[in-house]
Amino acid sequence: MEVRTLILGAGAAGLFCAAHAGPGTLVVDHARRPGEKIRISGGGRCNFTNTGTVPERFLSENPHFAKSALARYGPWDFVDLVGRHGIAWHEKTLGQLFCDGSAKQIVAMLLDEAARAGATVETGTEVGEIAHDGSAFRVVLEREGRRREVAARHLVVATGGKSIPKMGATGRAYEIATQFGLGLTETRAALVPFTFPEGRFAPLSGTALPVRAAAGGAVFEEAMLFTHRGLSGPAMLQCSSYWREGEDLTVDLLPGRDAAEEIAEAKRTQGARRLSTWLSAALPTRLAESLASELPAERKLAELSTQAIRETADRLHGWTLRPGGTEGYRTAEVTLGGVATGGLSSKTMEAKTLPGLFFIGEAVDVTGWLGGYNFQWAWASAHAAGTEIASR
Ligand code: FAD
Repeated sequence: MEVRTLILGAGAAGLFCAAHAGPGTLVVDHARRPGEKIRISGGGRCNFTNTGTVPERFLSENPHFAKSALARYGPWDFVDLVGRHGIAWHEKTLGQLFCDGSAKQIVAMLLDEAARAGATVETGTEVGEIAHDGSAFRVVLEREGRRREVAARHLVVATGGKSIPKMGATGRAYEIATQFGLGLTETRAALVPFTFPEGRFAPLSGTALPVRAAAGGAVFEEAMLFTHRGLSGPAMLQCSSYWREGEDLTVDLLPGRDAAEEIAEAKRTQGARRLSTWLSAALPTRLAESLASELPAERKLAELSTQAIRETADRLHGWTLRPGGTEGYRTAEVTLGGVATGGLSSKTMEAKTLPGLFFIGEAVDVTGWLGGYNFQWAWASAHAAGTEIASR
């Protein structure tokens, strides 16, 4: 069998590329259904883009690589498409756009766009050996026990990263890149909760509060959630992309407030009260109780010296924690790192050393912040490759 373009992976990037690559496109995926990650994304509502998309919100060894594709296909292009399909959406917070209804609408939209462009999507298909004979790629596919070889002028690798192996994630893109001489950057689980030894925060499990958290030079002002295993919530997931083993996180538990000033004021007006009372009003009760052992919580405010107030405030604004690790690929939303951008054209996503071979989406060493950025990269990189293929 011969096709013009073979796309490996019917996820966000693969399906969107099929919608642009033109007729003669076959998309294959080993999962039973296409777009499974889209379906579960954003709590079932798919945070499909972010209006604040700028290259600075993407991590990559080459911070300039994503610029071209993101400039040519931006969040409003996708919003237009969503509108044309009659999908209602809303902004939740921080530029994050979600479906009003269901993420399944995005999957249906992508399948519809791919079908309109003349592409065929085949699931339940294993990808075997891949070779290049000098003019075409030859890929062995196996479906329901039957093997066949497909020859394709263009091969687009859109098999994603390693996050959530239970959902069919594999490192296949990295193997293909290595096979054809492309480099890889170190991969690690990102947008993932932190774990702490000995269930340190288990008694606080379920407690959430707004914080300003810092890791590896990045700072995020979002919610933090205590879990049985450690710390989660948007602020922690964001930090996980910048954190490395053995490093500390710094958490401001009272962002935008001045604890020293507030405690000094309370000392003047309510000096007979204990610090624990002030803490319980300022923070979620269980967290205030847990911090009490580390602070002069049972002392009356009137008895606190200026230095004791300063130390208490420093503690609350600069809580320092060292995670034991993260929950890893089991729950990570994305994989940081991947196919090194040095081997790819930033305009087309094509391998510089092997024309016709493209890498798009999460497989590439471009990782977005939490909040719709990763889908925006999937759309933009898929559009770059798809429109290039269609133009040939
Ligand atoms: P994927 O969507 O992962 O698609 C890869 C496809 O390749 C899959 O269908 C897979 O079955 C197939 N495949 C893999 N290996 C093989 C193989 N060897 N042979 C054949 N097929 C293979 N991002 C956002 O921007 N907003 C969100 O709301 C959001 N929510 C998320 C929620 C969760 C729980 C998770 C896990 C991720 C979320 N993400 C979100 C991240 C986002 O889903 C990914 O960045 C995005 O799906 C990447 O698109 P992709 O096409 O590159 O890879």
